Amino acid sequence: MRSGDVAIDCKNLTKRYRGTKVDALHDLTIHVKAGEIYGFLGPNGAGKSTTIRTLMNFIQPTSGSATIMGKDIVADSVTIKRSVGYLSGDLSMYLKMTGAQFLEYMGELQPPVSQAYRKELIKRFQAELHKPLGELSRGNRQKIGIVQAFMHQPAVLILDEPTSGLDPLMQEEFYELLTEARQRGAAVFSSSHILGEVQKMCDRVGIIREGRLIAERSIADLAQEAAQTFDIVFKDKPPIGKLKQIKGTKETSVHGNTVTLHFHGELRPLFTELAQHDILKLDTQNLDLEEIFLRFYKQNGGWK
Ligand code: ADP
Repeated sequence: MRSGDVAIDCKNLTKRYRGTKVDALHDLTIHVKAGEIYGFLGPNGAGKSTTIRTLMNFIQPTSGSATIMGKDIVADSVTIKRSVGYLSGDLSMYLKMTGAQFLEYMGELQPPVSQAYRKELIKRFQAELHKPLGELSRGNRQKIGIVQAFMHQPAVLILDEPTSGLDPLMQEEFYELLTEARQRGAAVFSSSHILGEVQKMCDRVGIIREGRLIAERSIADLAQEAAQTFDIVFKDKPPIGKLKQIKGTKETSVHGNTVTLHFHGELRPLFTELAQHDILKLDTQNLDLEEIFLRFYKQNGGWK
């Protein structure tokens, strides 16, 4: 697969569980390209696991279809399972196996590209190999799951809440691993309910609520939609009246000679005005994507 090729292609994918009256997943159409990390963001119960389990053919779609590397998720599921790097929300089927046995078993289903790489991952994630998975903490089990999903350097990775239970150091190691996967051209589809994490690790995000995709954006576009907050220290009395008139100024507050300015839009008029004054200090607070995500949810009935 070449970078930019569509690796995961969902068309109107819909799932209604038997005996229920609403779709757990409704009409999902998304594409994930090679070399792209796609974050699938939504609160508990939004339909993330349903999507992932459908893609892996553990459950079958009620309607719609999807392909992974051109293979149909239902008709070609055996081939897909052999090739895709998959990290499930839990490893409950394998709790009696030790980490070593589990990796060995999975390695037979999905032969590693190199033993050296598998060893490297075990070392990087300090994977505990000699205890049954059922006796490991959630985080330590997750680390084995990560090694398993990545060890054969798959072209497509499908990950369900991959960082759950990981401590911050291991989370960083995981983000590093994702970056490497992207560099070698893998397509990654990863669910998460953590906004900051998606912002950090993904190129694009789909926001799902009650089974429906309510927004899809590149992280770069989201950053542009975000308002910025500037803390500006003037040498003299701040020109607050003028600042308030600039298109894009949302809110201002003044403490002595310091102005805190919430701004959204074209920056040139702001800086043209600032250039007329002696500025002692200018700080920008981080773009608050979290605010934007929450706005999507508020507009669509709230994050529940
Ligand atoms: P998420 O992974 O985003 O937390 P899920 O995909 O697990 O959400 O769930 C989406 C919806 O489908 C929820 O309303 C959930 O209660 C329902 N659901 C999940 N699994 C089943 C099932 N096996 N049978 C019936 N309903 C289910």
